[in-house]
Amino acid sequence: MNAVRSVAIAGAGVAGLATGIQLARAGVRVDLFESTPELRTSGSGISLQGNALRVFDALGAWDDIRAAGFAFEGLNLRAPGPAAPVVAALPDVKTGGPDYPAAMGMPRADLARILFERARRAGVNVTFGAAVTGLRQTDAAVEVEVDGRVAGTYDLLVGADGIHSTVRDLIGITTGPQPNGMGIWRTFVSRPPEVERTELYYGGPVYIAGYTPTGPDSMYAFLVEKAQDRSQVTDEEATRIMLEESRAYGGPWETVRADLARGARAHYTWFTQHVVEAPWNRGRAVIIGDAAHSCPPTIAQGAAQGLEDALVLTELLTTRAAVDEALWEEFHARRIPRARAVVEASAQLAQWQIDGVADADAGGLIFGIAQRMAEPA
Ligand SMILES: Cc1cc2nc3c(=O)[nH]c(=O)nc-3n(C[C@H](O)[C@H](O)[C@H](O)COP(=O)(O)OP(=O)(O)OC[C@H]3O[C@@H](n4cnc5c(N)ncnc54)[C@H](O)[C@@H]3O)c2cc1C
Repeated sequence: MNAVRSVAIAGAGVAGLATGIQLARAGVRVDLFESTPELRTSGSGISLQGNALRVFDALGAWDDIRAAGFAFEGLNLRAPGPAAPVVAALPDVKTGGPDYPAAMGMPRADLARILFERARRAGVNVTFGAAVTGLRQTDAAVEVEVDGRVAGTYDLLVGADGIHSTVRDLIGITTGPQPNGMGIWRTFVSRPPEVERTELYYGGPVYIAGYTPTGPDSMYAFLVEKAQDRSQVTDEEATRIMLEESRAYGGPWETVRADLARGARAHYTWFTQHVVEAPWNRGRAVIIGDAAHSCPPTIAQGAAQGLEDALVLTELLTTRAAVDEALWEEFHARRIPRARAVVEASAQLAQWQIDGVADADAGGLIFGIAQRMAEPA
C-alpha cells in the first residue's frame, strides 16, 4: 500500500537519494532534481555512526558501503605537543546494534557514488543541473517548477535540498541555519598505519584538532577554530594556514603536514545549528535532512539524522493509504524530538569548547545521546 504514486525530490545528498531509493523500490515514480551539473565527487571524508549504517542496510547499500569504508570502534584522545601521547581510549556505543561497527569513515565521494548507483538501479529518474525553483499546490497534488519551468505534477515534493534549502523558503519556513561561532579546516590526506580510529586533541591553539580514517590509504584531518571570515583566502593560503595551525600537534599530524606541504587542499566551513519546529510540511511539500536541521559535527550525527528522516518518511509513505494529518503527526513525533536532541547535544559540546568549560561532563552527554540513537528511529 502506497500513499503516493509520484514524488519529486529536490537534492541528491544522502537524504534525497535515500528517500528516492526507498520510494522507487516500493513502485513509486520518483523524479529527483539536483541543482549541481553532476554528482559531487569532491569533499573530504565523513564519519558514519552505527545508526547511519543500519539505514544503509535498509536501503540495500550496506555491502557496498562496508567495502568502501574503514570500520572502527572507539575514540582516542591525545594531548598536544610533539609526542602527542594518547591520554584516553574511549569505548563507543554501537548505535546501529551488534550487527554493525560502531562507526565507519569514508570518502564523501564514495558515499555519493554508492547511493547514486543504488538510486539509479532502483529506478529513480535523476536530473542534474536542475534546481527546484517553485511550487504550486492543491489539496490533491503539487506542481513543481524546475529552473522556472513546470517539470511535473506529483503527489508530494520532498525538499532534501540542504542547509540553504529553497523548498524551505518556498513553503514559508523562516527558521534557518545560525552560525555557532566555530569554523573548521578540513583536508583529505594519507593515513599513517597507526591511525585506526578517530583521534581528537583538545588544548593547543584551536578548539579541536583531529582526524578520522576513511580507507586503507586515506583519512581526513580537521582543525576547529573560532569562526573567521576566510572567504578571500586563496588555495595556497588555506594550505599554509592549516600547516601553521597544526604545528602544535605531533604524532600522525607529521604525516598530515607532509601531505599539506606537497599540496593537499584545505577547505573551510562554518558550523551552524537549527531545528525547524513542527510541522516540516506545508500540504504536499516537506523538508528533511539539513533543510530541517543542522548541527556542529561534534558527535558526527548530521548525515545519520537525514538518513533517518528519509527512512521514517518513506516507511510511512509506503504503508499508509493517504498523505493525511495522521501520517504527518507520526512523522513529526518520530523525527523532531530525536533530531532536536542531536542538535542540542552537538551544540552544547561545541559551546563548552567555546566557553572553555573544563569540568563539563562531555563523556556523559555523548554516551547519553548515543544510547538514545541505539533505539530505532
Ligand atoms: C564540517 C562538517 C562536517 C560534518 N561531518 C559529519 C560527519 O562526520 N558525520 C555526519 O553524519 N554528518 C556530518 N556532517 C553533516 C552532514 O554533512 C550533513 O548533515 C549531510 O550531508 C546533509 O545531507 P542532506 O542530504 O540533507 O543535504 P546535502 O548533502 O547538502 O544535499 C543537498 C543537495 O541539494 C542540492 N540542492 C540545493 N538546492 C537545490 C534546489 N533548489 N534544487 C535541487 N537541488 C538542490 C545541493 O546541491 C545538494 O546536492 C558534517 C557537516 C559539516 C558542515
